[in-house]
Amino acid sequence: MKRITLMLLSGVCMQVFAQGYPTPAIPRDEGIEAKVEKTLSRMTLDEKVGQMLELNLDVIGTMTAENPQLDREKVKKTLRQFGQPESEVNNLLKKSDKEILALLSNYNLDIYKDGTKRVWQMNETMLDTLISKYKVGSILNAPGTRAATLEQWQKWIQLIQKKSMKHIGIPDIYGLDHNHGVTYTQGGTLFPQPINLGASFNIELARTMARVTAYESRAGNCPWVYNPVLDLGRDPRWSRIWESFGEDAIVNARMAEAEIMGYQGNDNNHIDKFHVATSVKHYMAYGAPFSGKDRTPAYLSPAMLREKYFEPFRAAIRAGAMTIMVNSGSINGVPVHASYEYLTKWLKQDLNWDGMIVTDWADINNLYTREKVAKDKKDAIRIAINAGIDMSMDPYSVEFCILLKELVEEGKVSMDRIDDAVRRILRLKYRLGLFDAPNTGGKEYSKFGSEEFALEALHAAEESEVLLKNENGLLPLKKGTKILLTGPNANQMRCLNGGWSYTWQGSRAEDLAERYNTIYEALCNKYGKENVILEQGVTYNEEGAYYDENAPEIDKAVSAAAQADVIIACIGENSYCETPGNLTDLWLSENQRNLVKALHKTDKPILLILNEGRPRLITDIEPLASAIVDIFLPGNYGADALANLLAGDANFSAKMPYTYPREINSLANYDYKVSEEVGTMSGAYNYDAKVSLLWPFGYGMSYTQFTYNNLRVDKTHFTADDVLTVQLDVTNTGNMTGKEAVLLYSSDLVASMVPDNKRLRAFQKHEIQPGEAATVVFKLPAKDLAFVGADGRWILEEGDFQLKVGKESLTVHCDKTKAWDTPNM
Ligand code: BGC
Repeated sequence: MKRITLMLLSGVCMQVFAQGYPTPAIPRDEGIEAKVEKTLSRMTLDEKVGQMLELNLDVIGTMTAENPQLDREKVKKTLRQFGQPESEVNNLLKKSDKEILALLSNYNLDIYKDGTKRVWQMNETMLDTLISKYKVGSILNAPGTRAATLEQWQKWIQLIQKKSMKHIGIPDIYGLDHNHGVTYTQGGTLFPQPINLGASFNIELARTMARVTAYESRAGNCPWVYNPVLDLGRDPRWSRIWESFGEDAIVNARMAEAEIMGYQGNDNNHIDKFHVATSVKHYMAYGAPFSGKDRTPAYLSPAMLREKYFEPFRAAIRAGAMTIMVNSGSINGVPVHASYEYLTKWLKQDLNWDGMIVTDWADINNLYTREKVAKDKKDAIRIAINAGIDMSMDPYSVEFCILLKELVEEGKVSMDRIDDAVRRILRLKYRLGLFDAPNTGGKEYSKFGSEEFALEALHAAEESEVLLKNENGLLPLKKGTKILLTGPNANQMRCLNGGWSYTWQGSRAEDLAERYNTIYEALCNKYGKENVILEQGVTYNEEGAYYDENAPEIDKAVSAAAQADVIIACIGENSYCETPGNLTDLWLSENQRNLVKALHKTDKPILLILNEGRPRLITDIEPLASAIVDIFLPGNYGADALANLLAGDANFSAKMPYTYPREINSLANYDYKVSEEVGTMSGAYNYDAKVSLLWPFGYGMSYTQFTYNNLRVDKTHFTADDVLTVQLDVTNTGNMTGKEAVLLYSSDLVASMVPDNKRLRAFQKHEIQPGEAATVVFKLPAKDLAFVGADGRWILEEGDFQLKVGKESLTVHCDKTKAWDTPNM
């Protein structure tokens, strides 16, 4: 048997502390700093506040429609789809056609009678005014949030750069939400969403996705992307958990590091023309809304905040992330956009970070309109800028510049604070090389949308789909099997891609994804069209909200089952994003569950394909299925990947990136507190508090089997400065080559704060041939076993810890307690 030794050293990367602060993650470049100072010294206050504003592209153009005729039904449907409350839609509809057109025609909305042609055109006079008069430093977004062509991007951004260099002598920084590929550029490569990358447990795939996205963004002249998302997908009710790498802080941290490298390249002071700056977001705890609804408050203990929600951001900054976007909500009553503690102290001071902080969409305004911590816009700007915001994404107005200038003149915002913010913005623009080369694109980017990138996206999708159940070896499905393909997700691209795919909501973009395969098309390619019967039974109402379904036709699907050997039911959700994706009931739709129940009565084996952004409850139909695969949101090549996996042409290797709940009142994460599991308490009284899960975080099957043996550690006693070397042998005892994600957990057996059940500390993924074994080596710094105590300080306590990998475990002992005085270890 061949034995290979595999090692991962990234866990031991050390920070050097000087006077309590770490050395900056991006080494200070004196040449760049001198240029920043020189530019700053010649800038007027108007120019400075202008650099701090980011506008939406829609304000410098118009969406023109030829002879526009309003379709009131479409207005209703479109606004509902965007989550507008019924009362507001009704109020709007009381207005005349002309008034509605005046209000809505500048947005790229489908509100016209059929046959109306619409084109977005840049308004050069407006652009001139915004840049020459208000000195605006940044612009974002795609017109009407719909993907444009490469040529359009080059033309628009070139014009913006030309005017910026002419009127201010400082280039613009253009930003786009390129989250799993170039969302807003037609013909680019869309990878699986981040939740899939999390499920792959393979950081190389994250790095690849980021590298390709950077390249294709630059092909369209865009130097800045709002990604990676590090919000921790810990609450299944939240509409954005698929935008993160899942529920664990370490998975998010390692994926973030890999993506930052992929996006920014190797030299953060001199980002080349194939790389971009990242904006990690949404700092922080955006993913922990108490209500489960988007952009609502989080209430978290100091330990939860620092150990879990902050950790991926800390790691991202230490990996060189150049900008950060802020959480729209509040933590323990303090809106993050108003928090000096979180913005200035935790990021800029404690991490000695010289990057730039940008708000999320109109979030300074939200400080007075929604959060009510400011009395008006000017007050809100004062609070946010003094808290540490450097750039305001204020999409539709230049009032920010006027009010901020007044605040400086009135002494309510200091010139030092303004200079600090502008330095950070200029440094970013210099690091990106925008002063010397404000534009990129053209012939040099011949790999845009190439076969090479497509294969990388396909490979990522294959490693990201999780096999959850496979009774009686139903899978792989043999060639020649007669398949009934059913369910609302069986034959459309929208649900494979999810939100941020050609459009913000991922809707109304089937035309742009036409050349990729739906599950139906991919299965026809694999098994032959004659072997695949498509009868969906339930379909989504594409004109309605993401959860709207058409009247079900379950009987048709049941009748079709008679001709099939196996039923593949593709169920889940249609695409959504942000607040329009809010949810009132975590159960999968009743129609879809009824479809599966009715099909079960046919006695044909059922394979469930879960295609959803969050884990919808399926507890009543799960026992009816012989096999289950969770494909999450696998992107344009996700169906081809699925066909390869179902046929056994590729092997499953993904694991759950979040906990799949069984009960509506038991929405636990894997790292719950030990005292949450007290159902088996002895005595007369049964506490009945159980952590009841359908599939735990880290669960996933393969066509082959791996056995774990001989878990060992180089020292059983340690203190805080030690590094433990943990090793184990992993053997492929099955018949097929496979990749195994090996997850190392620890449990603190007794601690002064109720310990977590277990915590992931490191993970590695390795390909192992049948009959071969690999020795997997983890270098685990002992300080990683510390926790944040009740006083908010890191502490590693004397006592026993268990280290676990699979069913293997061993105990190690910390000989001496250590408490840290620094906020970060
Ligand atoms: C979202 C961000 C996004 C920004 C710009 C906001 O509504 O929360 O994730 O980057 O819009 O499009």
